[in-house]
Amino acid sequence: MNGADCDIAILGGGLAGGLIALALARLRPDVRVLLIEQDHRCGGEHVWSFFASDIAAEDTWLVEPLIAARWPGYDVRFPGHSRSLATPYRSILSENLNAELRRALPAEALLTGTRVADAGQAHVTLAEGRTLRAGGVIDARGAAGLPHMAGGWQRFLGRMLRLDRPHGLTRPIVMDALPPQGDDYRFVYCLPFSDTELFVEDTYYTDAPKIDVGALSVALDGYVAARRWTVAEVLRSDRGVLPVIGSGDFRAFWPGPDSGPARAGVRAALFHPLTSYSLPDAVRFALAICRLPNLSGAALAAASYDHARAHWRRGSFYRMLTRMLFGAGEPRYRFRMLERFYRLPEPLIERFYAGRSTRADALRLLAGRPPVPVAGALAALVGGGRPLASLESAG
Ligand SMILES: Cc1cc2nc3c(=O)[nH]c(=O)nc-3n(C[C@H](O)[C@H](O)[C@H](O)COP(=O)(O)OP(=O)(O)OC[C@H]3O[C@@H](n4cnc5c(N)ncnc54)[C@H](O)[C@@H]3O)c2cc1C
Repeated sequence: MNGADCDIAILGGGLAGGLIALALARLRPDVRVLLIEQDHRCGGEHVWSFFASDIAAEDTWLVEPLIAARWPGYDVRFPGHSRSLATPYRSILSENLNAELRRALPAEALLTGTRVADAGQAHVTLAEGRTLRAGGVIDARGAAGLPHMAGGWQRFLGRMLRLDRPHGLTRPIVMDALPPQGDDYRFVYCLPFSDTELFVEDTYYTDAPKIDVGALSVALDGYVAARRWTVAEVLRSDRGVLPVIGSGDFRAFWPGPDSGPARAGVRAALFHPLTSYSLPDAVRFALAICRLPNLSGAALAAASYDHARAHWRRGSFYRMLTRMLFGAGEPRYRFRMLERFYRLPEPLIERFYAGRSTRADALRLLAGRPPVPVAGALAALVGGGRPLASLESAG
């Protein structure tokens, strides 16, 4: 690109921006990338997990170097039943993303410790005042909330623990809904990284995004103590609030490809509406970018808009399930939907998490006696149930 500082400027070196940069470095080494991240390292401090079935076999090379732990299956636990599933499970640590970006990109392609103030399709203005010119721009700066959307929230508090004795788990517990439920759907998630290292995350599907770290911390400590695990050291901790989408106006959220630069990741609503997980979509989108014949700012914006709009359309079934989860009756019934879901065949569960449910899956998911009260479920579907929370801001 004549006279430009780079061919593509990627704003935000988190999961989505980092994967796009890695994919371009491998598949389009001719493209001069500039990844601009406000922190001094990329990726923050996160554990990102996924099911092996979330990612097409031919695409796994992109995440393979980032994987810190892998397991041949996982468990779930509910009051009515528990189950061991055979779908392999994987976790990525954000430090691996940071290290891989530094290995794969030339030093001048990484601009860390630099905050973006503003951007268009072919320029980026840094907070320090400098303006860079780019052939194209992809905005992957994440999002604290989603304007023009409604639903609920997932609140997390996770800790990587070093225990003074082996914990005894050999595979992840992806949902342990046995602990006391309270007002929200609560489950605990455990990833055994080694015999004595365990990531434990307490998760709540809730109407309000506000995190009470003290209360979450007490609940998480209670879970650990109840299992007689004694903590020698807290190695890292992770917390966050994620939007769970039940309804929205996509055109108002993103008026069109001319309204600004291309978007990626959560900023483009490229995540599963009900689980809020974005890794499978981030992989697909990064590889889709590499296949584009034209990487100009306008072409990138148009392609990202079309990609996100198609994703939004495909998500309508999951948004309906969110409306049932949050809109039907009492929050204490929420766990029953997940309990029932985990009685279904494993391939259907895999397609659900990958965001690739079929019509037959949808019918199967909705067949039988509703796990939430019938009147409430029907009211939620036609918009007359409990009002959904605005996702405008996580506060
Ligand atoms: C606690 C928690 C656990 C999660 N676990 C999973 C999981 O296991 N699996 C999964 O698939 N999803 C998970 N998610 C959901 C989702 O995948 C993550 O939130 C993911 O990080 C979103 O990717 P992203 O690239 O859109 O945003 P981010 O990863 O948040 O990246 C945005 C980046 O932009 C940078 N940035 C922001 N503003 C600026 C600026 N002005 N200038 C420069 N840089 C800027 C940020 O510092 C950040 O690095 C989890 C989320 C949370 C909060």
